[in-house]
Amino acid sequence: MICNDVQKLIDYAIKKELITNDDIYVVRNQLMEALKLTDWEENLSECSDETIDEILAPLVKYACEKEIISDTSNSHDLFDTKLMGILTPMPREGVAEFNKRYTANPKEATDWYFDFSKKLNYVRAGRIEKDLKWTYDCEYGRIDITINCSKPEKDPRDIAAAKTQKVSAYPECQLCPENAGFAGYATHPARQNLRPVPLTVNNEKWQLQYSPYSYYNEHCIVFNEKHIPMIIDDEVFEKLFDIVDYLPHYFVGSNADTPI
Ligand SMILES: [Zn+2]
Repeated sequence: MICNDVQKLIDYAIKKELITNDDIYVVRNQLMEALKLTDWEENLSECSDETIDEILAPLVKYACEKEIISDTSNSHDLFDTKLMGILTPMPREGVAEFNKRYTANPKEATDWYFDFSKKLNYVRAGRIEKDLKWTYDCEYGRIDITINCSKPEKDPRDIAAAKTQKVSAYPECQLCPENAGFAGYATHPARQNLRPVPLTVNNEKWQLQYSPYSYYNEHCIVFNEKHIPMIIDDEVFEKLFDIVDYLPHYFVGSNADTPI
C-alpha cells in the first residue's frame, strides 16, 4: 500500500516533468530512504488527478504512524518538503530553463517559473486557495482585500519544541541564498524545493523567488545575495528600476523598514 502511495508521487513528478524516466530508480530509492522502506512492491498506480496535497497526505501519515517524524503540523511541513526536495531539479536546471525562456520573453520566463514553483509545492497552491479574497468599491476606488488563511496555525507542541531548539545562525535569515535546499528545523522552514533564479540589480548579484504564502497573485521576492540590512536610500530607486527593467510586466516595491 505504501509503495503504491510512493509510486503516485513518482508518477506525479514524471507527469509534471520534474523528473524523467531516467531518474526513476534514484528518486524511488531516495523516497524509500526517507520513509525507511526496505522492500519495494512493483505496482501500477493509475496516475490519477489527485492534487499534490492529496498525494503527500498518506506519505506524511505513514511517517507519523511509523514514528519517523512527530505528529505536529511543523513536522508534517518539514517532511513533505523533504519528499518534494527529492523530486526537485538541481538549481542549474531551473536556471537554464528560466534563462532560455527569458531570452524569448520575460513573461514567458516568469509564467514558467511560477508554474514550476507550484508543481514543486514550494508555492503551496492548495493552501493559498483557502485565502479569502474580495473587492470593495469605496468612494476612493476599488480595494482588494485578502485575508491570508494559508499559513498553518501554530501547533502548541511545535511552540514547545521551538523553545528547546538550538539557536543556529545558518542560514542567517529566511532571505539568504543558503536557504535553497535547506532541511529546516523547528523555527526555520524547510526549503529543499526552493530554487531561486539569479539576476543583476545595481551591478550586484540578487535572486528572485516566489513567496510560498502569497498575498497577491505571483507574489515574488527579490533579495540581495549578501546578508545586509534593508535600508531605504537613493540607491533603492536604481534597484527598483533595474528590477522593472528586467521584469517589465511586474510591479515592484520596497518594504524596507529602516529609512535613513
Ligand atoms: Zn539573509
